[in-house]
Amino acid sequence: MSNQTTETSALLGDEAVALGAVHAGLSAAYGYPGTPSTEIMECLMEHAGTGGFTAAWCTNEKTALEAALGTSFAGKRALVTMKHVGLNVAADPLMNAALLGIKGALVIAVADDPGMHSSQSEQESRFYAAFALIACLEPRHQQEAYDMAREAFDVSERFSVPVLLRMATRLSHARAAVRLGGQRNQNALDKSTDKTKWMLLPAYARQNYAGLIEKQRDMLAWSTAHKSNLLESGGGSLPVDTSLAVITSGLGGNYYEENLADLIAARMGIKPARLHIGAYPLPVESIRQLCVTAKRVIVLEEGQPVIEERLRGILPQSITITGKLDNAVPRAGELDPDNVRPALGLAPRKNILAAQQALAVPPLPGRPPQLCQGCPHGDSYNTIKQAMAEIAATLPEQERPSALAVTSDIGCYALGAGPPYSVPETIVCMGASIGMARGASDAGVRYAVAVIGDSTFLHSGITGLIDAVAADTPMTVVILDNSIVAMTGCQETILPSSQLRGLVLGLGVKPERYAELEAKKQMTDENAKRLRAEIEYPGLSVVVFKRECLEAARKRLRAEGEKKGEKK
Ligand code: SF4
Repeated sequence: MSNQTTETSALLGDEAVALGAVHAGLSAAYGYPGTPSTEIMECLMEHAGTGGFTAAWCTNEKTALEAALGTSFAGKRALVTMKHVGLNVAADPLMNAALLGIKGALVIAVADDPGMHSSQSEQESRFYAAFALIACLEPRHQQEAYDMAREAFDVSERFSVPVLLRMATRLSHARAAVRLGGQRNQNALDKSTDKTKWMLLPAYARQNYAGLIEKQRDMLAWSTAHKSNLLESGGGSLPVDTSLAVITSGLGGNYYEENLADLIAARMGIKPARLHIGAYPLPVESIRQLCVTAKRVIVLEEGQPVIEERLRGILPQSITITGKLDNAVPRAGELDPDNVRPALGLAPRKNILAAQQALAVPPLPGRPPQLCQGCPHGDSYNTIKQAMAEIAATLPEQERPSALAVTSDIGCYALGAGPPYSVPETIVCMGASIGMARGASDAGVRYAVAVIGDSTFLHSGITGLIDAVAADTPMTVVILDNSIVAMTGCQETILPSSQLRGLVLGLGVKPERYAELEAKKQMTDENAKRLRAEIEYPGLSVVVFKRECLEAARKRLRAEGEKKGEKK
């Protein structure tokens, strides 16, 4: 085993996590694509061949975490990757994994998306770590992403718990120089033989839960002493005013430091006391130490007010807490060096104001994301729209609004919600379209249509379809099969299109109520006729629109061209 520094590389935060995991002796990585976490697995897949480890996409985040649990049970080190909302899907095994006797390390790298650049919510993964009573590391730059990814494996084995590595969009997708360490050997196969630690039967689970509570004290001692949990309350080159305390975490630490020179100048050369937090459980004693003489505490944390909310239970009421809860820092969206200045009592930066005034750029028209020109989903939506319009035309006007419903799902096809299609009426979470169409149908919506992509269907739509099969719900599931996970950069779908029919029929859908149609503009009339017949059928039907995603086709043709070139 070697831990020597070997080289420096310019890495995305996600790539830094991937290489940190590889160098920590990773044996297997599993995940489901989701921006901004996707590049972790893509980087791992590039290195899997030479690195002698497994790296695979899974059907969903839950199956990914369960596969990683199996690797840990066998004594080897495993990583799971997902975006923040994916952790909801994996929440069941996560909460229970905390009670297991993790053998080989289990690290869960989750990328949050504050500002919802490509997500349906702004939820915060640090809550999950606290909820599951496990350790969490929160890097604030690419070097820390690498170092903490490596360290997370050791921490997981030390405390025998999963460790959550919390990333965020700006860190995942920005590139910086990272000093890499040496390669640790993989663990040998050494399956756990302690069934009490791996079978959550109530008697064992109670025992293990008590053990987990017991571990909190040691984990807290670890986080309190962690080098990223840096307390600055005096002793440096500048005097410190301990009546004002600043607590930062993750990227919030960077934005604070960008403003520090101005803050010191505004306070006549005196710094506030400060605690940066990068390792959890929350270092409560460090917070108390920071605030011994504080009158006010400013909290700068990217995401939800996880630390800020806990402070009320830690600090006396006499200390004023400033942050997201009193709107001194924006409650929603991302932090940046400018929007944290008011909380620090600083005026807007003059150079930024001057640049804004000099540019005097008029507000630009909004440019919402759209389906690619010629995308098969566009043709499918036009077909659905036509079929629904024809059905609506047969109904009295007052019945129309509640007689038809189109629920949709997460993927490129969500862009059909906007003009010129404007077809979907709901988009909630992975797989929800099918369950919602079923519920709407049960409530009396006569023509309920669920629109879902092939990958989303496999991820979590399939169970909703089983419910609909069991009840023979009068509804139509439209699967948009473009043979790829398009929205996250064209990862392969877990099962090829050729297996979709067998799968759907295997669930119990009647063969005569299953149709595969080509998603082509010139076939709109013909397809709308068949789709209308299925929507009007008073039972369950499934219609699959098939055509390859244009972006996937481009990538495929390029790869085929390169292969041909290599052969010549
Ligand atoms: S990437 Fe593919 S599926 Fe997504 S909008 Fe473009 S063509 Fe359509």
